Amino acid sequence: MAMPEWRKDPVTGLWLIIAPERAQRPQGEQTIERCPFCAGHEVDTPPEVFSIRAVASSPNTPGWDVRVVPNQYPAVVNRAGAVPAPEPFYLSMPAQGAHEVVIESPDHLENIASLEQYQLLKILTAYRQRMRELSKDERWRYLLLFKNQGIGAGATLAHVHSQLMGLTIIPSEAEREIDGAQDYYNRTGSCVYCEMNALEVSAGKRIVDANQDFLTFCPYASRVAYESWIVPRHHESLFTTSDDASVHNLARPLSHLLRRLDRALGGLQCNYVIHSGPPHLGDNPFYHWHMEVLPRVVQQGGFEWGSGSYINVVRPEDAAALLRGVDPN
Ligand SMILES: [Zn+2]
Ligand SMILES: [Zn+2]
Ligand SMILES: [Zn+2]
Repeated sequence: MAMPEWRKDPVTGLWLIIAPERAQRPQGEQTIERCPFCAGHEVDTPPEVFSIRAVASSPNTPGWDVRVVPNQYPAVVNRAGAVPAPEPFYLSMPAQGAHEVVIESPDHLENIASLEQYQLLKILTAYRQRMRELSKDERWRYLLLFKNQGIGAGATLAHVHSQLMGLTIIPSEAEREIDGAQDYYNRTGSCVYCEMNALEVSAGKRIVDANQDFLTFCPYASRVAYESWIVPRHHESLFTTSDDASVHNLARPLSHLLRRLDRALGGLQCNYVIHSGPPHLGDNPFYHWHMEVLPRVVQQGGFEWGSGSYINVVRPEDAAALLRGVDPN
């Protein structure tokens, strides 16, 4: 089996992954009879690494509520692999890493917004558990938890699931955030996310939802229509150090946001990520973990590609007002 590899763009410095095996993934609609993520089809996935399940049930059998398995078609591979054949001038390295799938319901549900809050709590608990576990492996410099909801958002299997990757490098978008937050802290002595929280609370117009632990708002510089962030109100760098009460208090705003987007947009095509600080930096005064939800309402085009920027046709203030008006229950 060929090892996927990181290649570095010699001009921009961007590291990207070449993983031809990913092309073998099943494409298109799966019938419930053939879906490898449905309860009863446990033999169709690699053996589970974690599950939340009924006490009396055994691993890799039905009885689970959330199940985590290694990705069958990984973009990064958890073994020391052959070093890519060196080429003059260019830089590459084996794409070593962990790549897991969090299967978020034993039933064949296709829309994360349809899940109940108690199920989202189990899902978030599984995210935290696996990220805690991967944090112990010092090879992984960054952990990325992401969801592709809907075919328009890059999902190849319709059954609700997310993916978790442990990477040997900090990917460029995450690095840009971490460097920006560090730079802001160096200049001002404050966390930029804590400052943003305080400002959004006092301005109010971009707030979608708030409870004692989390703020949901459409960011001032939203890249896409209805972009929404869920940010802890207390300063904390790592999602993995969130306590049970905090995870419990995240399930409700996450459920409400997903339902608001689903209802406002007439169906949910979105990506979400958990941006947590690199494990090796630990808790620090400048980085503040958060979730970002990006609805995929409009296909990105040449401007986005050619400029690395965005044209967003919905003002975040209008997006927040519309989302606030949707009943999330
Ligand atoms: Zn299924
Ligand atoms: Zn902060
Ligand atoms: Zn972020």
